[in-house]
Amino acid sequence: MGRVLIIGAGGVGNVVVKKCAMNPDVFTDIMLASRTLSKCEAIATQIGGNRIKTAQVDADDVPQLVALIQSFKPDLVINVALPYQDLPIMDACLETGVHYLDTANYEPKDEAKFEYSWQWAYKQRFQERGIMALLGCGFDPGVTGVFTAYAAKHHFSEMHYLDIVDCNAGNHGKAFATNFNPEINIREITQNGKYYDNGQWVEIPPMSEHKPIAYPNIGERESYLLYHEELESLVKNFPTIKRARFWMTFGQQYITHLTVLQNVGMTGIKPIKFQGIDIVPLEFLKAVLPEPSSLGENYTGETSIGCQIKGLDKEGKDLTYFVYNNCSHAEAYREVQAQAVSYTTGVPAMIGAMLMLKGEWMRPGVFNVEEFNPDPFMDLLNKHGLPWHEILHAELPHEYPA
Ligand code: NDP
Repeated sequence: MGRVLIIGAGGVGNVVVKKCAMNPDVFTDIMLASRTLSKCEAIATQIGGNRIKTAQVDADDVPQLVALIQSFKPDLVINVALPYQDLPIMDACLETGVHYLDTANYEPKDEAKFEYSWQWAYKQRFQERGIMALLGCGFDPGVTGVFTAYAAKHHFSEMHYLDIVDCNAGNHGKAFATNFNPEINIREITQNGKYYDNGQWVEIPPMSEHKPIAYPNIGERESYLLYHEELESLVKNFPTIKRARFWMTFGQQYITHLTVLQNVGMTGIKPIKFQGIDIVPLEFLKAVLPEPSSLGENYTGETSIGCQIKGLDKEGKDLTYFVYNNCSHAEAYREVQAQAVSYTTGVPAMIGAMLMLKGEWMRPGVFNVEEFNPDPFMDLLNKHGLPWHEILHAELPHEYPA
């Protein structure tokens, strides 16, 4: 049915390629391209059967990307490299007339700033070229947007309060590691927290607001209010939302390490001189930390990510609603040799790509996931390894109403 070019052979890329390869009726031809060719080849060898073509590419370089796209002729490019590459890859898609999908919004390298404005600005050009870009199709952002759209479609006449709750209750046995690209992860956590309240964005110092939240099958975990990019698109696309927040769990050991690294300047993103050369402390830190793709083997425990929503049901009565998925690190490893954070990102990227190639989610322009019919996506989550559960009318843990 379709040819797909996947860019980025890291933790998430490994999952996307393997899940696409498991669905040959949709993904007839697959190429994996990344900065380091040997990483693409290692994944292709694990899949075997000459099923996956590989290539080296610097995805910051538009002419290189255009040449690669023109030689492989994909219908769709899945970008699971880093957020810095979003705009060059979108530029290459525009030039070649190929659809685009990613899992994280663009960030400039020299400033930790997360917003959709740069990518939304491509809307008209994508429309005019007759191609589609699907933004943020991982788990969060991604499934959290689909969960919210599903709640709006099937349960609510008006949604008022949205809390996205993200818990990793796993243990990888390392003193300190991040579950996705360390540079991106640490930039996200060390910026100010931010949430939406009655039409305003409220900023708070990093990690300054936290509370225990109870997660299904896991129990209470200390959860920290962070800014997360899907809040921006969700409050725009569901304007009845009065308050939207994002919470993520961190263990004390992680926070202690991060505090020390911050205090000594290792999380800085401005270059410093070291022995006559410029180095960025956070890029150097990334180089000494474990790669996210290497964490899977002895990872125990599970993740739990969901949306807690309160508002009015279709009859106008009060409704509380919780929809979530739990994912086991060990099961993800057994299936695709990945930990659950890579798995929960890679599976939705494959599903979004599948719906685009089948034409079920296909319109020219630039879109976030919640702008499409959530039902086929929700069905495919159950079929491809991320079953979800919903709880209606339960007392949601803490904090309702404001
Ligand atoms: P990794 O660091 O494991 O992988 C990133 C890959 O991209 C690496 O293989 C890297 O190459 C490659 N890459 C980096 N720069 C370039 C470049 N200029 N040209 C070509 N390839 C390049 O990260 P993850 O797999 O953990 O994350 C991938 C993406 O997924 C990130 O954007 C992250 O933000 C996003 N994400 C989204 C989530 C969601 O739920 N929405 C959750 C988790 C992650 P090399 O191997 O040479 O370094």
